[in-house]
Amino acid sequence: MKKLSGIPNSITDRHENACFAPIKGALDLLCNNQRPVFGKAGSSNNQSNGSISAAAALYFKYVRKQFVVHHFLTATARKLRNIVNHWQPPPLNSADKEQADMLLKRIFDYDAFRQGKTPCFQNGHFYWTKNRTGVGGYEYLAYHYKNVKYCPYCNADAIYVFRTADGREIFSAFDHFFLRDEYPFLALSLYNLIPTCYRCNSQLKTVADMRTIANPFIEDMHSNVFFFPVLHRIGLQSNVPCRIILCPHERCSPKAHAFVQLFELERLYSSSFAKDAWMCIEKVRQYTPEFRRHMASVIGHKDPRLVETLLFGMPLDESEINKTRLGKMTLDIVERFHV
Ligand SMILES: [Zn+2]
Repeated sequence: MKKLSGIPNSITDRHENACFAPIKGALDLLCNNQRPVFGKAGSSNNQSNGSISAAAALYFKYVRKQFVVHHFLTATARKLRNIVNHWQPPPLNSADKEQADMLLKRIFDYDAFRQGKTPCFQNGHFYWTKNRTGVGGYEYLAYHYKNVKYCPYCNADAIYVFRTADGREIFSAFDHFFLRDEYPFLALSLYNLIPTCYRCNSQLKTVADMRTIANPFIEDMHSNVFFFPVLHRIGLQSNVPCRIILCPHERCSPKAHAFVQLFELERLYSSSFAKDAWMCIEKVRQYTPEFRRHMASVIGHKDPRLVETLLFGMPLDESEINKTRLGKMTLDIVERFHV
């Protein structure tokens, strides 16, 4: 909803230092028609070090070159979009493609990354292992996003990170903006990982072509679209929103429009949050600026942000959107319905 901030250099450097060399080592082997052995030397589940076809080796040469030139692991969201837009590897038959994707998934192994492991490459063996600190990429990324309290796609469901009584770290899902199945080599790219809710990650965004969809690191939905409750009058009741639509700002990007469609935001908000919209409209009408000033003098507090939080659930400031449930709709209503 509000653009996500960049990832700090300390995190990107750490990720690049831990992952770049071992992954490049495994790709180098594939470019020479050889498969890495998956697992530590001497481990019981080592797979034989078979060869790959000449066509597959050419494909891997393309992947390795892009990996080295563009530094997938830490490339910004804009660079990732560029990589995907220009991705034209040498063609493979379906059997080779299936094998190539399988190998890339074992190298760019998101599940291992998520478990706090780091990759190793030694003497033709590629494996993931617990690092010395036991703190994995998934964990440090989750802590980076601790101020993103609500899903950047819907702004409605909670993003969480906490430690259980027995010491386990519990995180929300990270969505792969460009899908792992389609782009296995971007599975560990920090700017391809976006903290999200289950509905947006697993139920709505399943097969979309994300090249045409707004990216929360690049496009700011707040400056592209605004929530607008369509009102109607029922008997003696005041105006109740029957439907919530998202209207484009003057220069709305087509990618933002596609984002609204993909995440079904109008249907979601109309079916689940019409009452929240109505309550917000009523608050705007009752809590006039004059009332707010009066309230500030009664509670003896000069900071308008405190009064706004008490009345509207948030300081009326766009920097608060990702920290507040329905924060964007609240701000849009305050802006359009104020008296
Ligand atoms: Zn969501």
